[in-house]
Amino acid sequence: MYTLEKSKQAFQEAKVYMPGGVNSPVRSYRSVGSEPPFISSASGDRIYDIDGNEYIDYVLSWGPMILGHAKSEVVAALQEAVLRGTSYGAPTLLETEVAKKIQAFMPHMEMVRMVNSGTEATMSALRVARGVTGRDKIVKFIGCYHGHSDCLLVKAGSGLATFGVPDSPGVPASVAADTITLPYNDIEAVRELFAAQGDTIAAVIVEPVAGNMGCVPPVEGFLETLRAVTSEHKSILIFDEVMCGFRASAGGAQKKYGIVPDLTCLGKIVGGGLPMAVFGGRRDLMSQVAPQGPIYQAGTLSGNPVAMTAGLATLTLLQQDPTVFKRVEAATVKLCEGLVERAKKHNIPVQVQYVGSMFTLFFTDKPVRNFEDASACNMEQFKKFFHYNLSHGIYYAPSQYESNFLSMCHIPQDIEKTLEVADEAFAELAKDLKA
Ligand SMILES: *Cc1c(COP(=O)(O)O)cnc(C)c1O
Repeated sequence: MYTLEKSKQAFQEAKVYMPGGVNSPVRSYRSVGSEPPFISSASGDRIYDIDGNEYIDYVLSWGPMILGHAKSEVVAALQEAVLRGTSYGAPTLLETEVAKKIQAFMPHMEMVRMVNSGTEATMSALRVARGVTGRDKIVKFIGCYHGHSDCLLVKAGSGLATFGVPDSPGVPASVAADTITLPYNDIEAVRELFAAQGDTIAAVIVEPVAGNMGCVPPVEGFLETLRAVTSEHKSILIFDEVMCGFRASAGGAQKKYGIVPDLTCLGKIVGGGLPMAVFGGRRDLMSQVAPQGPIYQAGTLSGNPVAMTAGLATLTLLQQDPTVFKRVEAATVKLCEGLVERAKKHNIPVQVQYVGSMFTLFFTDKPVRNFEDASACNMEQFKKFFHYNLSHGIYYAPSQYESNFLSMCHIPQDIEKTLEVADEAFAELAKDLKA
């Protein structure tokens, strides 16, 4: 019998000490109307809760664990690293090693700065763009999430969309006023905006594969248009590949779609499961960052040796065995095609959208190209599907507006098991429709 009794108790107590009982909103399961399992450990593609339940994990810490949890080589490297001390606040050989590895995957990362979270990476990349252009305005797309810094917390997808908070209290109107939002994949809107005021725009920031309104690939011509108009108007094009880097392809979305951004933000996989992120790109732009240039950016724990070790071990394994990406992508295709097939069998309209090793099962009969499309999904069906899966050992992201992920540990038997449970879940939804 599936039960979350211990987790429920733990959640009650956590709520006394932390807002919503969590340290990041989506973990609270509010959008699916229940209590989250409290996790005790994870290994490979499995995650375990304090009630003794085992799940096949498609959240993977929201993306980072592409090698699977507790990958032995990464764990061994970390065990050695901590014995040498956990932070020095001084340069190490590791940082240059990591920078070189990143460049091996993404040659346009000519210079990088390591930071501690994706939020910091995007916030700092924007400062560079504003600093070098001397302009204030930035463009972002509705439903794209770039972390929680003030000027980016405008129409920001996933956690926010789920809670129906378009803006957050505490973001000054004056700051939000410099953020222009456009619908994702709307080429015409981009052209019109740039024709009217392109010369006042410091930067366009975009998830080149959107993952924070669910998985939404760029339509043909969208990224090309962003590249063209920003070049024409001397604005900076920032690819936020915190999620899709090492997911859309080994070289990220920039490699997959053949578009070179001016700056790139990375996080999640790049830190191998530790708090670590990166922004970087064109040498002439990054040379403007302190202390080489005047644009200030700093961090006590930035380039932390333990985080660098996890990142380096992860990237090294990915580089040594390039078939990892092919295998994880093949597993993703198998799962996604299987989900479509099972849904069809029970006449449940779905769109399963995937790029590389990220995917979302949308409960809708039309392709999802932007946030409005994502919002039109059947959220009741999503909730039921989610709960059926959770209580049968399949751990998906607890919101329709999220991407799910695979790792190299998701073997064919796991995919098969996942599809069996999906089949049952769709059958339950079909019963509802008849009732
Ligand atoms: C997760 C994410 C961020 C924020 O990263 P944090 O490490 O949570 O601050 C930014 N951009 C994208 C695209 C993300 O997926």
